[in-house]
Amino acid sequence: MGELGVTGMRISLEYGGVGADCVSTGIASEEIARGDFNCGYAVMVNGLLGEMVEHHATEQVKEAWLPPLAKGEKILGICLTEPECGSDAAALQTRADKRGDEYVINGQKSSISFSTVADAFIVFDKTNPAAGARGISAFMVPADSPGLERTDYQDMGSRMIHRGSVFFDDVRVPVENLIGEENQGFYKVMNGFDMSRAYIALMCIGAAQTSLEETIAYTKTRKAFQIPLAKYESVSFPISEYWAKLDMIRWYSYRALWLRDNRLPHTKEAAAIRLGPKVAAECIHECLLLHGHYGYSQDMPLEQRLRDVIGLELGDGTANIQKVIIGRELFGKEYWVIPASGCPSIMACKRSLSPVRRC
Ligand SMILES: Cc1cc2nc3c(=O)[nH]c(=O)nc-3n(C[C@H](O)[C@H](O)[C@H](O)COP(=O)(O)OP(=O)(O)OC[C@H]3O[C@@H](n4cnc5c(N)ncnc54)[C@H](O)[C@@H]3O)c2cc1C
Repeated sequence: MGELGVTGMRISLEYGGVGADCVSTGIASEEIARGDFNCGYAVMVNGLLGEMVEHHATEQVKEAWLPPLAKGEKILGICLTEPECGSDAAALQTRADKRGDEYVINGQKSSISFSTVADAFIVFDKTNPAAGARGISAFMVPADSPGLERTDYQDMGSRMIHRGSVFFDDVRVPVENLIGEENQGFYKVMNGFDMSRAYIALMCIGAAQTSLEETIAYTKTRKAFQIPLAKYESVSFPISEYWAKLDMIRWYSYRALWLRDNRLPHTKEAAAIRLGPKVAAECIHECLLLHGHYGYSQDMPLEQRLRDVIGLELGDGTANIQKVIIGRELFGKEYWVIPASGCPSIMACKRSLSPVRRC
C-alpha cells in the first residue's frame, strides 16, 4: 500500500506523499475497503494524521515522521479517548507539564487504534487543566519513549488494528514535539475529524457495496422452491433499497469532502454521513441473511465485515453525538447546553459557524 501511495494521500510531495485532495483520498478509502475493510484504516488514519502533522507540527517532527508515514514504513496512532471520557473528550485528564525544554506526560488513554503496533502517537493532554477545552495540547510521542506502555484488547472485530490502552508514566518529550500552539489542540489541531468522518463513511460503504454485489450474484444462482431467490421481491427489494441508501451516503460523503477541498463549511455534512456505518452494518446483516446458513460461517467474509463495520459506528464519535452537532447548527447554539468540559464535536461545530474554515 505504501508503494501504491495510498498511505500518503494527504501528505505533500515535499514530504514523500502524493499530495492528493480530500475527494481522491475518499475514493482510495472506499476502494481499498471494498477489498479489505481493515486495510482502509491505513488510508483513513494516515489521511487524518498526515494532514494534522503537516499543517501543525514543527519542521523537525514533519521531517522525522511524514516520509516514513507516507511510504507505509511507520504507523501513527491518535490518543484522545480515556477510560473516563470518550464523547466528552474535552474532559480528558492526561496531563503534560512543561519542565524546561520538555513536557512530562502522565495519564492513560483507552480504545486507541494501533495501540501495540504504532511507532508513535499524537497524544492530546491537558496543559492548562483549569481552562477546560482551551487548555488542551497535542504532542508527538514516540512509542519507544521510556515510561510508555501499551496493551491490546480482545475485540469482536477489526482485530488487525490492535485497539488497546496506552499508559504514560513520566513520559518526556521535547518542546519541538508540540503539535500546533499550546492550549490550541481542540480548536485547531482536531479540525481533521470532519474529514475522517467522511473517509469512515466511505470505508463502510465500500464494505457494504461488496457485500451487496456478492449477494446479487448469489441470489441469482441459489434456488428455493425451484426458482432463483432473486426472483422473490422480498429478496430483491431490500437489495434495491440498500443500493439506494448506500449510493446516497456515498455521494453525500464526497460532497462533504468536496466542500472541505473548497474551504467551505462542512461540519454538518460530515456529521450527517456519520449514519453511514449504521446503514452499512444493517446492509451487511441483510446480505448475510440472504446467504442463508452459508452467510453465518467464517468461510464467507460477511460475518467478519459486519463485526468490523460495527466498530466504526463508535470510532471517531458516535451517531448520537453527530445528531447533537447537526441539531446545534439547525437550531442555533443557544438551544444546546454545553457541558462544563465541552466536547470536540461541539467545538468543531462552533468553528464551522465562520463562513470559511481551513485547518
Ligand atoms: C474500533 C474503534 C476504534 C477507535 N479508535 C480510537 C482511536 O484511535 N483513538 C481514540 O482516541 N479513540 C478511539 N476510539 C474511541 C471512540 O472515539 C469512542 O469510543 C467514542 O468517541 C465514544 O466514546 P465512549 O466509547 O467513551 O462512549 P461514551 O461517551 O461513554 O458514550 C456511550 C454512549 O452514550 C451515548 N452518548 C454520550 N453522550 C451523549 C449525548 N450527549 N447525547 C446522546 N447520547 C450520548 C453515545 O452515543 C454512546 O452510545 C475507537 C473506538 C472504536 C470502537
